[in-house]
Amino acid sequence: MLNHARHADVVVVGAGLAGLSAAHHVVAAGLTVIVLEGSDRIGGRMATDTVDGFRLDPGNHLLNTSFPELHRTPGLAGLRMRQLSPGVLVRGGGRNYRVFGDQRRARDSLSLLIGGSRTPFSATLERARLGATLARLAGTSTARLLARPETTTAEALAARGFSPRMVDGFLRPLLAALLSDPALTTSSRCADLVLRGFARGRLCVPEGGSASVPELLAKALPPGSLHLGRNVTSVSTNEVAVDGHPAVRCRAVVVATGARRAAGLLPGLHVPEFHPVTTLHHAVAEAPLREPALVLAADRRGPVAYSVVASEVDPGCALDGRALVSSTVLGPLPGGRVADAERLDREVRGHLADLYGTDTDGWELMALRHERDAVPAMRAPHHVRRPVRLLSGLYVCGDHRDISTAQGALYSGRRAAHHLLRDLGVRFRPEDTQRNLAAA
Ligand SMILES: Cc1cc2nc3c(=O)[nH]c(=O)nc-3n(C[C@H](O)[C@H](O)[C@H](O)COP(=O)(O)OP(=O)(O)OC[C@H]3O[C@@H](n4cnc5c(N)ncnc54)[C@H](O)[C@@H]3O)c2cc1C
Repeated sequence: MLNHARHADVVVVGAGLAGLSAAHHVVAAGLTVIVLEGSDRIGGRMATDTVDGFRLDPGNHLLNTSFPELHRTPGLAGLRMRQLSPGVLVRGGGRNYRVFGDQRRARDSLSLLIGGSRTPFSATLERARLGATLARLAGTSTARLLARPETTTAEALAARGFSPRMVDGFLRPLLAALLSDPALTTSSRCADLVLRGFARGRLCVPEGGSASVPELLAKALPPGSLHLGRNVTSVSTNEVAVDGHPAVRCRAVVVATGARRAAGLLPGLHVPEFHPVTTLHHAVAEAPLREPALVLAADRRGPVAYSVVASEVDPGCALDGRALVSSTVLGPLPGGRVADAERLDREVRGHLADLYGTDTDGWELMALRHERDAVPAMRAPHHVRRPVRLLSGLYVCGDHRDISTAQGALYSGRRAAHHLLRDLGVRFRPEDTQRNLAAA
């Protein structure tokens, strides 16, 4: 029993994906948990806002049907995903190309995109090389991928024989969308992991917005476990101090606050650099593309890295017959913040006019979100499975301990919980999960 939120077996600090995942694994093993969230809502970087009836995510959160934790995390059984079209649409050289999708709907193909003045034969050869690389990755285990020599993504692609045209025309824009890193400084192992996901599964978004993932997890926790507006100021192995509230006592603590805040609570913890991400949401009278496709900007003629007609993927996010277009700008903004939103909006709409081949003058900006610490950078060399056990009784999880994705955050929560259960001597069998959750 929870003693008026003053005592539980385990306290989890932070109700983002990692913290909620850890809490579920702890409850599934039969222990009590209190989750303390500093803000007034759950979800952390996957919280969704509503503006004038439009549902707006903090970013174009692209998940993948092949993310294992979406299928394995207790509490996510009811998660519904909306899939994007197979493959991607690439805008380059003034044309649109469909890559790895339904070629009947394509105006031009990858061979044209990378062909340029070269012979059709060399373009075809390179396309075959790309197909073979993805097929090989799709069949390679995580352990083998992580055992490969590590370099930057840019160097690894060149070493595999991909031409600058293939890199700039397709691989860089694709990896920019999947890793938020257009410079391709990310560890080649991490790039291989996300390319493997692209080859194995389908890009997708959670139905109802990115917040539906943490909301489902929160709903499935025992009543009374989750407390909002509890800003934790210090932690030890058996007690957590909370700003303006009584301390909470426990047998173990999991810090799941995101890297920067975690280092404030746990001095000495590694804090990575971050890729900043800016997202612009536009309401438009008519969808500029009647398809749930990921549109990649290979032409670099403007600030947009990629864009999606979000209402084609999940019609529930828009209102009153209008469509919602969500577009992503990667990298820092001048001065580190949105100093001139109007100007950025103008530049983005100019670029979108070219990407979608339509007039964007009448597009209404619903929101412009800039997240400086959006995605932890995974520069080579990158430790993909950073330790989550600091001491017996003190654990840390979050995307900064794993790969910087929703999958990484969920998996880090699982790893932290498993170390904790072992330290507490709790015998945990995965088959007990459903029984313990039902009994909680
Ligand atoms: C714009 C953007 C785009 C993204 N795109 C993608 C994508 O396409 N695909 C993908 O897989 N991932 C994407 N991500 C990354 C993904 O959102 C994160 O990997 C994941 O949400 C991280 O979850 P987390 O639990 O580790 O951390 P967080 O979500 O940061 O959760 C930490 C929680 O701890 C709380 N907290 C902090 N300090 C305290 C304290 N002292 N006391 C109590 N609570 C505290 C915070 O309020 C927060 O709720 C994107 C992120 C952003 C911002």
